[in-house]
Amino acid sequence: MDQADQTPALENSQSFSFKAETKQLLNILIHSLYKDKEVFLRELLSNASDALNRLRFEMLTNNAVLDPEAELCVRISVDKDARLITIRDTGIGMNKDEMIENLGTIAQSGARKFLEAAKEQKADFSQVIGQFGVGFYSVFMVAEWVKVNSHSFNPDAEPVTWYATGEDNFQVAPGDKTDRGTSIEIKLKEDAAEFANDYRLKEVIRKHSDYIGFPIYMGEEKDQVNKQTAIWRTSKQDVTTEQYNDFYRQLTLDFEEPLMQIHYVTDAPVQIYALLFVSGKSERAVFSLRKDDGLKLYSRNILIDEYSKDLLPEYLRFVQGVVDSEDLPLNVSRETIQASGMMARLKKVLTGQVTRELENLAKNDADKYELFWKEFGAFLKQGVAANQPDAEKIYPLLRFKTNLKPENWSSLEDYVGRMPAEQKTIYFILGEEVKSALRSPHLDYFQNKGTEVLLLTEPIDSFMLMGLHKYKDFELKNVAMADEAAAAKPTDAEEEKNKIADVDFGSLVESFKLVLGERVTDVRSSARLSQSVARLVEPEGSLNPEMQRVYKYLGKDFEVSKKILELNQSHPILKSLVSLDTESALKNLVIEQIYDSALLVEGLHPDPSSMVARVQELMQAALSNPGSVSQDPA
Ligand code: ADP
Ligand code: MG
Repeated sequence: MDQADQTPALENSQSFSFKAETKQLLNILIHSLYKDKEVFLRELLSNASDALNRLRFEMLTNNAVLDPEAELCVRISVDKDARLITIRDTGIGMNKDEMIENLGTIAQSGARKFLEAAKEQKADFSQVIGQFGVGFYSVFMVAEWVKVNSHSFNPDAEPVTWYATGEDNFQVAPGDKTDRGTSIEIKLKEDAAEFANDYRLKEVIRKHSDYIGFPIYMGEEKDQVNKQTAIWRTSKQDVTTEQYNDFYRQLTLDFEEPLMQIHYVTDAPVQIYALLFVSGKSERAVFSLRKDDGLKLYSRNILIDEYSKDLLPEYLRFVQGVVDSEDLPLNVSRETIQASGMMARLKKVLTGQVTRELENLAKNDADKYELFWKEFGAFLKQGVAANQPDAEKIYPLLRFKTNLKPENWSSLEDYVGRMPAEQKTIYFILGEEVKSALRSPHLDYFQNKGTEVLLLTEPIDSFMLMGLHKYKDFELKNVAMADEAAAAKPTDAEEEKNKIADVDFGSLVESFKLVLGERVTDVRSSARLSQSVARLVEPEGSLNPEMQRVYKYLGKDFEVSKKILELNQSHPILKSLVSLDTESALKNLVIEQIYDSALLVEGLHPDPSSMVARVQELMQAALSNPGSVSQDPA
């Protein structure tokens, strides 16, 4: 093969250097042993389709385009003997600056990421090159040289030609293309000669690009090669799980299978084709193709918005996918579409559908729903907090751990189903984590009675409670609230016997008040405690604990309100305390420690390490009288 054949002359050309990352990428692609070289065609067709889409979008508002009557399509021609293929589209085209920028000098963070990913994955990474925004370069897996001729849609633009062999440089020169669009001429390498063949190309198109939304023709043929149906417009029974997963991978570059997909087609109340996915992880993968939340919005095959955030409420922002509607007005700007009532209707329908499908998942595959809940539960809780109007729709999706079932996830319906007939309230407790919540003195009474209590241990829970006051007819109540404490429980005979006599208890309360002074609003007896010595409760009329937490998390300037210290009149520690002198230093130490411990279990202690010195003193006292320690404290 002679030199002239390899390097067609490009008159009046300027030479440019590829960016460093691009050079490296090209080097890998040229010398790759990738089996799936055929994906180059998918990438070029995907670019052609993007260019056609952009042109179609432009034409919604601009009549002054070159060749307005030209069919929006791709045509591929083959010269078998010369090992040449040419891919022509009638899309948006490129002018000189765009060509230099898009095909050569743009800073390629995508190239760098591709290089990193290709190193790690070892697999045939050519498969996904398009996801890195460097798909065009995959042509160098098969090309000896590539020539791109383009004429922008803008009638005043000059045609331009780009030429490269995959070495460090590319050339740009004035072109001679007179009609709109881009034409890519590829001289195939010897080991890629198989692609200089209509039959082989058709096979590749049907395999990888069947869904492309514009007709693809071979040579002068009139019948298009691709079926041109978007997967979301295909009816459910014709799509395999494999195809769904493929589509999801192409959309997101997530190599894990999605947790669930929602394929939804309806004509009423609005026309919708939607194909939505919930991924297995709440965090977007580093290499994810999706750079933002939001759904791809099409109308009649025209991409209106790459990241539409108006189709689902914010709390469902983890849902990814495509929505296509024939009902959106087309001959108006994006902004008007957003403003039109149609978006709100689409949102309503889609939100309903996603919620329903999640409920179905919970019903039909509890294990999978648990995976979902662990990853995305916080989003739904946020939805309850923020979306007052449709918060109720989310209630059935919520899951909780409870004191009676700390290992399992229970729904509110489960909880209500297990309630004894006389119970009219759903109880909850706030805590930092399940273990400490289970040890809370507020639970004593409920544990003894075998009453179920929801364990709310995430920061978001306090916010969620702002939108969850009632489920069905049952009000939610914090077990730490004082009015609950006021409802005395009938003490059994055993306890009555153990109780400290009221007179003694009265003077003990005085000692507590003396020592704690301003730090508490009151000290009193509680009928709610059995294992615990004491607990702190909110005085009537103060901000409830969930709101106090909300303020705390929001970093609002906010003083924790003073609380009432309630004592267990039957507790052995207090009994022993009664017998100590009022003046006793040990008595004061114990009182301080009881108060600090109560603060600690509430998660309110400002400086827990400050207790160390006192605990040491207490140990010292205990050791000087070892016989007094009767049992294992746990
Ligand atoms: P991506 O398609 O992800 O942007 P590519 O490497 O495939 O990355 O393409 C780079 C850019 O080159 C495209 O974004 C587009 O601006 C331009 N381009 C490629 N092919 C065409 C085409 N057929 N018509 C118009 N512009 C194109
Ligand atoms: Mg591309």
